[in-house]
Order: sequence, then structure tokens, then C-alpha cells
Amino acid sequence: MGFLEQAERLRRLPPYLFKEIDRQKAEVRDRGVDIIDLGVGDPDLPTPTHIIEAMKVAAEDAANHQYPSYSGMNDFKYAVAEWYEERFGVEVEPEKEVVSLIGSKEGIAHLPLAFINPGDVSLVPTPAYPVYHTATLFAGGESYFMPLLEENGFLPDLDAIPEEKARKAKLMFINYPNNPTAAVADQVFFNTVVAFAKKNGVLVCHDAAYTEMGFNGYRPPSFMEAEGAKDVGIEFHSLSKTYNMTGWRIGFAVGNEDAIAGLGTIKSNIDSGVFQAIQIAGIKAIRADQACVGENMEIYTRRRNLMVEGLRNAGFALDEPKATFYMWVRVPEGFTSAQLASRLLEKGVVVTPGNGFGEPGEGYFRIALCQKRDRLAEAIDRIKALAL
Ligand SMILES: *Cc1c(COP(=O)(O)O)cnc(C)c1O
Repeated sequence: MGFLEQAERLRRLPPYLFKEIDRQKAEVRDRGVDIIDLGVGDPDLPTPTHIIEAMKVAAEDAANHQYPSYSGMNDFKYAVAEWYEERFGVEVEPEKEVVSLIGSKEGIAHLPLAFINPGDVSLVPTPAYPVYHTATLFAGGESYFMPLLEENGFLPDLDAIPEEKARKAKLMFINYPNNPTAAVADQVFFNTVVAFAKKNGVLVCHDAAYTEMGFNGYRPPSFMEAEGAKDVGIEFHSLSKTYNMTGWRIGFAVGNEDAIAGLGTIKSNIDSGVFQAIQIAGIKAIRADQACVGENMEIYTRRRNLMVEGLRNAGFALDEPKATFYMWVRVPEGFTSAQLASRLLEKGVVVTPGNGFGEPGEGYFRIALCQKRDRLAEAIDRIKALAL
């Protein structure tokens, strides 16, 4: 590419650590091996019918064919505010404290453009969803990585953040229930985050993509439930995992009015909002009976139980996850994450090596429960046959 040089912001992107596993996956597939993909966190189950029906009707209505409002339809924002009150007991002002998003990734990726100047710091967990760091880079900022360690329940140790980094920090990203570790946070942790944010003038960005995915009646809390959270925080939600709507691209953010306004200004200069028919389907999803979410979680519970037992019988060490559709499994002695993933791939079982989410993920691998039970059982058989 002689004449076309990529911008610095693309050249600053971290190396793509899944390249080798992708190459190996293609090679194994070319050999005709049947592949069971436990790598990707993308629900295999369909979007519930009542949501699709709402979309069909809304798609036929010409009023929805024009540009939507940048910050989202009022009906959508009111539906979100009602849901927040009912689900978390948190009051939000729909027209000032809610914005609709083209998936929560869109909002997370755009937020640093509103609040990070070159040289500013984002506090970013590791291992983590990669967007927190890359979005910080795109805004010219730097990440200070907060390791999520098993001995701390995969919560960041805020006392370990150097004073100087805390002072330079403008944003802190957190994500509970967590991808990739499946860890959960309680109100005590959220309270310490609020105190830290107030002390250091940091905007907290809580990625809450998995709050509706608790097992056995466990209901993960919202960061906004913490006293004072709305003074310092914005929370990102997604309809993707809750309603099997990853392909639809709809989510929303709730929280501090200035944070929402800043994000809204960025969005109004980049995108033009969410297709109204999709927002109407989203309203249906949020307002309708939530039985479909419970049914989903029953399916994931059966899958989780099968997989936890299967992996333990195969000699792996793991905690039973309380939420999300992920399992974060320790790699047995004598292997790196990459070596283990590679051995499993030889048998056609794809898992994600933990170091791909950040260096402290070394020693673990992630399984996504987005396959039917017979496929999971088959994966367990193949893993057992390896006799690691
Ligand atoms: C899936 C996922 C998202 C993105 O969800 P979309 O709303 O589909 O963009 C955000 N954060 C985490 C941690 C995720 O796993």
C-alpha cells in the first residue's frame, strides 16, 4: 500500500491475537473436520415472535421510513425509563437521561470522543471486551489497565491505581456481569466505584449488557442503583443478548445528563439514530411480558449445568457462573491458553484463549454457551477424548 498510509489511530490498534486461532480454524475446517464453535458470544436462539411481529407492522408504516430523531424516539426513551424504575427502582428522566443506540457497542465506542482529549487516560479492565481500549485509542487517549484477578473476584482493585493515573483519568470502564470472566459485582463494589469517581472526577461507564442474564433467580444490579451513581455515571444496555437481537443493532444508555448530552452530540455528527421500526420492536421487547427472557435463561441454565459437569468430569477447574452465557475455565497445568485452544481445535472444538482479552486472561479460556445441548455434549466427549 504505497500511497495509502493508515492513520496513526489504526496503527496504534493492539495486535489481533486471534489471528493464529482463526488461521488454524480455517485449516481444520478445510480438512473437513466438523466444527463446534464455542468461541462466539452470539445467541443461536431466535428473536421472540412478538418482537418480530412488531417490527413487521412498524416496517410497513411509511412514517418510520424517514430519519429518526438523533437521540431516539420519545416512546422508546419513556419505555426505557419505565423499565429502569420497575427493574432497578431507579428513576431516570427519559428526555435528558436516556439515549437510544445502534447497539451498545456503538455508544461505548463513541463515548470517549466526547470526553477524552489527547493524553487523557481511561481506566480499562483487562481481560475485557476490546472496545473500551480501542475507543480510547481512537479518541487519542491512553488506557491504564486494571487487571481483573481471580483472587479479587475479577473486580478491579481501585486502591492499586497509581495516584497520577487516577488524576489524569477521565473515564473508567466497568462491566458486570462480566464478559469474559462471568464474574458479578455487588452494590458494595459499585459504592466504592462511585466514591473513587467523585474523588478523581472520573466518568464511570458501566457496560451492563448482561444484567438480564442471571441464573437461578439471581438478578444482577444496575450501577445506577448505587447512591450518587447518576452524578458520575453512564450505563450501557443492550437488547442483543437479552432478546436474541444481536443482528438488529439496538441498545441504549442511561445516566448522567451531561454524559448523555455529550454522547448525543457525537452521535448527531456521525450517525442519524436507530431505524424507528427497530426502536418500535425494541419498545415491544421492553414493555411486553418478560417470560421470553426467563425461557431463554432456562435453556442457558441447562446448557451451563451440562457444561460445568462435563468439564469438571474432564478434569477442568471452573466456578459455576452466576450470570452471562460464558464460562471462564482454568487451563490445566502445562499448557498456555493458546496451546490449549489449539489442542481443542484439533478436535474441532473452538474456544477463546483468555489472553486474547488481555494479558491477565492467560491461564484461562472462555466458552460461550451458544450451541444446542447435543452439540455441547459432543464437545465434552471430544474434550474428554483428549485426556489432557
Ligand atoms: C455483546 C456485548 C456488547 C455489545 O452489544 P451490542 O448491543 O450488540 O452492541 C457490549 N458489551 C459486552 C461486554 C458484550 O459482550
